[in-house]
Amino acid sequence: MPKTQPPVWSAKPDVAGFEKMENDRLATAQRAIDQIVAVKGSRTIQNTLVPYDEAIRQLNAAAYFSSLMQQVHPDVTFRDHATAMTTKVSGEQTALSLNRDVYQALSSLDLSETDAATRYYVKRQLLEFRLAGVDKDDATRARLRKLNDQLTNDQSMFDRNISDDPRSVEVASASELDGLPQDYIDRHKPGADGKIHITTNYPDLLPPLTFAKSDALRRRLSEAFSSRAYPKNRDVLRDMMETRYEIATLIGYSSWADYNAADKMIMTGKNLAKFIQDLDATTRPIAQREFAILLAEKQKTDPRATEILSYEVSHLAELVRRSKYDFDSQTVRPYLPYNEVKKGIMDTAATLFQVSFRQELDVPAWDSAVETWDVIENGKAIGRIYLDMHPRPGKYSHDQMAQVLDGIRGRQLPEGILVCNFPEPTATDPGLMVYGDAVTFFHEFGHLMHHILGGQQQWAGISGITMETDFVEAPSQMLEEWMHSPQVLASFARHYKSGEPIPADLVARMNRASAFDRANSVAGQNAYSAISYDIYKDSPQKVDLDATCLDDLRHYSLFIPIAAQAHLYASFNHLAGYSSAYYTYMWDKVIAEDFFQQFDLKNLLAGDASMRYRRLVLQPGGSMSANDLVKNFLGRPQSMTAFQKWMGEEFKNAPQGNPSNGQ
Ligand SMILES: [Zn+2]
Repeated sequence: MPKTQPPVWSAKPDVAGFEKMENDRLATAQRAIDQIVAVKGSRTIQNTLVPYDEAIRQLNAAAYFSSLMQQVHPDVTFRDHATAMTTKVSGEQTALSLNRDVYQALSSLDLSETDAATRYYVKRQLLEFRLAGVDKDDATRARLRKLNDQLTNDQSMFDRNISDDPRSVEVASASELDGLPQDYIDRHKPGADGKIHITTNYPDLLPPLTFAKSDALRRRLSEAFSSRAYPKNRDVLRDMMETRYEIATLIGYSSWADYNAADKMIMTGKNLAKFIQDLDATTRPIAQREFAILLAEKQKTDPRATEILSYEVSHLAELVRRSKYDFDSQTVRPYLPYNEVKKGIMDTAATLFQVSFRQELDVPAWDSAVETWDVIENGKAIGRIYLDMHPRPGKYSHDQMAQVLDGIRGRQLPEGILVCNFPEPTATDPGLMVYGDAVTFFHEFGHLMHHILGGQQQWAGISGITMETDFVEAPSQMLEEWMHSPQVLASFARHYKSGEPIPADLVARMNRASAFDRANSVAGQNAYSAISYDIYKDSPQKVDLDATCLDDLRHYSLFIPIAAQAHLYASFNHLAGYSSAYYTYMWDKVIAEDFFQQFDLKNLLAGDASMRYRRLVLQPGGSMSANDLVKNFLGRPQSMTAFQKWMGEEFKNAPQGNPSNGQ
């Protein structure tokens, strides 16, 4: 790692230090913009695109850092200042996107002598300028600026209302925890009031939803989970919908969904609606077969049941996995202590993409749990990653990768971070992970590799995952498949007590079991895509939020929603950031499965597909359209064939007969 690039927290800033770092970046960006505007005579790459990209580099870095601090800093005052800074930086980004002089300057660049990546970069930037409204009159631009500032505020508030409002459910007696693993019960002792409290944070919430025998407990937790940030976020979401609708119509689109699609792979709201319908048609027949199995399971205790409530699904699916697939997901956890999983994931990524990782020790960070690693290729650092992996009070409560710095070839190394909430190993508890968490870990690591390996560009503005945003979930979802490979799992999953590698037979049963209920999860995701589209597809006056949530759940999912799910929009955090584009996950899952079929499925750690994939899909970053990345790797556009095969896998590989219950 060059000495010129110290780790992001090396200055150990307090609030004032943080604000100075950020303001310095904003000032440097402003100087670069002034320099573009001041040019007399003809426009060149050197006098126009170079300072423009410098402004982008500085603004991005400022935005990444403030939004990261807003999510992870342990001190609430610091987080408040970071939130205010995010608003300020975003205001500067909006101002640049509405700067006519800069737009004119970029438009008049002669690109005939430049490379394809540079031409693509400028073309994309000009599109983004037009979508920002740069060619509108002064009054409209002033209004757009105000609307964007408002939107940034509302987005921050929406997210914070969710993370500041974990709900908690009281359990009167330990008997209501029947069915849960012993280490969970040990970690949930009664408080001073004699009651056990279970929060809606994932590590607390997911085990009871899956394992608790108590129907009442699962229902109460589900109600609490669906009620988070309600009613607070109802008004915030309404404001965002109004603001977004006004922005879209001022630019000349009939809805936010249409406007928001214009710079993405999907291109129009109409294509989005069609994708949701196509996915529904592909999914429904398989989902119905799964539903019949779940219902039969429910009828074992409730013979007259004809329907399944949404909160019952995780538990029923677990029972099916035990009875029909002879698989108990608890039996996998002892093989997945956090530290072994981490090592296994890093080793797998290293093998696939032919890089290595080297930890930097004693690097200062905002919390002592944060780790810093260099990504090495041919003995040279090509990027840096940070791992902030365990829950803390006030910390962002989901799992995600975030950019820290854009990579620019020869100038700035790409840096990224994982912000996750996996169980923390302690002296007495190795932090055993549920299998789904291990998959999520590799998913997020996939984003990180995309950002780092795609971060060797000439320009900051096309670096890493700075691209059509409805492609970025494809590489990460594809890597999830590696976590199903017995070969890959055997390389790191060892019993935390005996050290014995995970038995191949257990992995095979787990794979059959985990394939079960996929189509129903896809249908559920499609319902969420529909909610995100329907909330933004029209004038906000026409949208009834409660009805939209319940109607779309009823229409696309085969399960009956509970009343509290009418308010799930209040904690559906993607409605702030992704807005109408939640379809991204399923759109990209279709691409991911298509990509995956190109690999040697018998030996996922060998063959040249992974390096071909790195070269054709990851390495170009945002230097060309993702529609072209797909075509370059597949030789054609994506299709739903591989995805359909993936959804129906459980029916292909189902064991003959009815194996005895392994419990
Ligand atoms: Zn992701």
